[in-house]
Amino acid sequence: MAKIAVVGSSSMDLVVTSEKRPGAGETVLGDRFETVPGGKGANQAVAAARLGAEVHMIGCVGDDHYGEIILNNFTENRVLVNNVKPVTDEKSGTAHIILAEGDNSIVVVKGANDHITPSYVEEAAHVLKEADIVLIQQEIPEETVEYVSQYCHDHHIPLLLNPAPARKLNQKVIDQATYITPNEHEADVLFNGVSPAEALRQYPNKVFITEGKSGVRYFNGEKEVLVPSYEVEAVDTTGAGDTFNAAFAVALAEKKSFEESLRFANRAASLSVTKFGAQGGMPMRGDVEGSL
Ligand code: ADP
Repeated sequence: MAKIAVVGSSSMDLVVTSEKRPGAGETVLGDRFETVPGGKGANQAVAAARLGAEVHMIGCVGDDHYGEIILNNFTENRVLVNNVKPVTDEKSGTAHIILAEGDNSIVVVKGANDHITPSYVEEAAHVLKEADIVLIQQEIPEETVEYVSQYCHDHHIPLLLNPAPARKLNQKVIDQATYITPNEHEADVLFNGVSPAEALRQYPNKVFITEGKSGVRYFNGEKEVLVPSYEVEAVDTTGAGDTFNAAFAVALAEKKSFEESLRFANRAASLSVTKFGAQGGMPMRGDVEGSL
C-alpha cells in the first residue's frame, strides 16, 4: 500500500447559491446554503485515500465546530489524523463562496492553516520520513513549503509540489522539489517570462503542466509529450487539480511509469468533474481502474 504524507490546508467551504451577486451595501435573497469540507490539502488527502493509499495528514484545524466536522470527514475517508491538531482560540480555515450569475466570488480566511509552521511540521517529521511520497500545496505559510522541500531533499524523500494557488517560488524550492504540477495559469506565474515549452524542456520528467480537459504535458528528456485526458460530461471542475495530484502521487508511489501515472491521474480527475463538489466527485480506486 502506498504511504503518502500530505502537508496542507483544510477548511470548511460555506457556499451560497444566489441569482444575483450583492453589490456594496446591498442585501439579496439567496437560493441555497451548503457547508462542505474543502481546502487543497484536505481534498488531496481524501482523494489519495479513496484511491487506496495510506494517507497521513499534517495540518491544523480550529477549536470550533467546523474543526470537528473537518476531522470527522478525514476519518470517514480513512485519512489518518494523528497530526491534525486543534489550535486553541483559533477558528478553522473557511472559504466563503457566492455562486451567482454563472461565476463564483470567494473570500478565504486562513485561520488555523496559518499555524502550520516549520516547527509544527518538524514535530511530525517522522511521518515525512516514512512516506513513499510527500504531497504539498501553497495554502500554507511559504516558509513551511521551504522547510518541507529542504527536509525532503535532505532525506531523499520524493516531494510532489502542487504550486496552487499561484504564487512565485524561490528557485531553491523549484530545484529541490521532485515533481511540480502547475496548471497553465500557475505555470505562467511560476516561470514568469519563460514559455511553457521552454519551462518543460528545462525540467524534464519534473514539471507537469495540467491543461484542463486536454490533459497534461511534460518533457520526457527527448520530446514533449501530451497525455490526453478522458472525454466526460463535466458538471463541476472544482477539485479536478486536487484529484489529479492525489492520483499522480499514488501512482508514482506505486512505482508506475510517468505515462502510466499520468493516465491514472487523468482518469481519476476526469471522473471527479462528473459530479458536484470538490470531494463529492472524487472516485474510488475501483472506479478508476475499471474505466482505464
Ligand atoms: P486545476 O483544476 O488545478 O485548475 P486543470 O483545470 O488543469 O487544473 O485540471 C487538472 C486535470 O483534471 C487535467 O489535467 C485533467 O486530467 C482533468 N480535467 C479537468 N477538467 C477536465 C474536463 N473537463 N474533462 C476531463 N478531464 C478534466
